[in-house]
Amino acid sequence: MGQKTLKVTLLQHTAEPERLAALAGKRCYSGLDNENLVRDGREKDPAKFISKVVGMGHVTIIEHASFTFAVEGVSRSLLAQITRHRLASFSVQSQRYVGETASGNSDGVFDYIVPSSIARLGPDRVAEFARQMAQIQEWYDGWVQDFGGGRDAFEDARFVLPNAAETKFLLTMNARELLHLFTLRCCVRAQWEIQALADGMLSLVREVAPTIFAKAGPACLRGPCPEGDLNCGKMKEVREKYRHSAE
Ligand SMILES: Cc1cc2nc3c(=O)[nH]c(=O)nc-3n(C[C@H](O)[C@H](O)[C@H](O)COP(=O)(O)OP(=O)(O)OC[C@H]3O[C@@H](n4cnc5c(N)ncnc54)[C@H](O)[C@@H]3O)c2cc1C
Repeated sequence: MGQKTLKVTLLQHTAEPERLAALAGKRCYSGLDNENLVRDGREKDPAKFISKVVGMGHVTIIEHASFTFAVEGVSRSLLAQITRHRLASFSVQSQRYVGETASGNSDGVFDYIVPSSIARLGPDRVAEFARQMAQIQEWYDGWVQDFGGGRDAFEDARFVLPNAAETKFLLTMNARELLHLFTLRCCVRAQWEIQALADGMLSLVREVAPTIFAKAGPACLRGPCPEGDLNCGKMKEVREKYRHSAE
């Protein structure tokens, strides 16, 4: 079957992201020339300095550290949401250049994501969803044929593909934008799929920049819920979850 699940990997990141952020901060407050500043920075642990400077609100220093992720097994629905984050770079698999015909797909049906709400209803409903995807595949293949096949045909045949269709992309963000993303998308009230992606990205960046991302996560980790009366009612559990994952 064409069912896929989330896979996120940290492809690359700025070398020594925390040392670089500390160096950026020290550049602001030190009279040393750059060569001596770098030498001085090599000898010191950057963690305490970063915490202090970022704690003062001087967060631009962490913009020097960037992280590139490879994401697959996510829906076009997720893509619509994540690409709303403007301070990021994306390279997304094209539905114009990459066809989704049954014959070109080893599973006989395009790859798609089963929403967690349908998975919870059990195997019969998942099979029903799979039949619906297979039906869409027939419609898609029909249009590709009507349009003469090949690359030009994919451009408009894709209009019948659903939000469930799988996509793959590379994503690059700096640490400041990642903190913003985690604030919005690790929230329990965010859509389940982007929440899972944000959680996965957070655990990956924490391994390489534990100080920068020590307090990362939904807004309620650092104060009251910004959603007020619409809050999820699970703040205690949420705070526990992110406290444990930071340890
Ligand atoms: C729970 C939730 C529900 C949502 N529902 C909807 C919805 O129904 N419909 C909808 O259209 N969108 C919706 N969104 C998406 C939302 O509108 C934003 O597109 C998304 O949060 C990313 O934008 P951002 O400004 O927060 O952050 P980014 O685009 O990641 O930008 C980061 C920060 O940079 C600054 N910035 C970036 N661009 C500008 C600018 N042009 N001017 C000034 N400052 C800027 C801001 O400080 C911003 O917070 C939803 C988001 C969430 C989290």
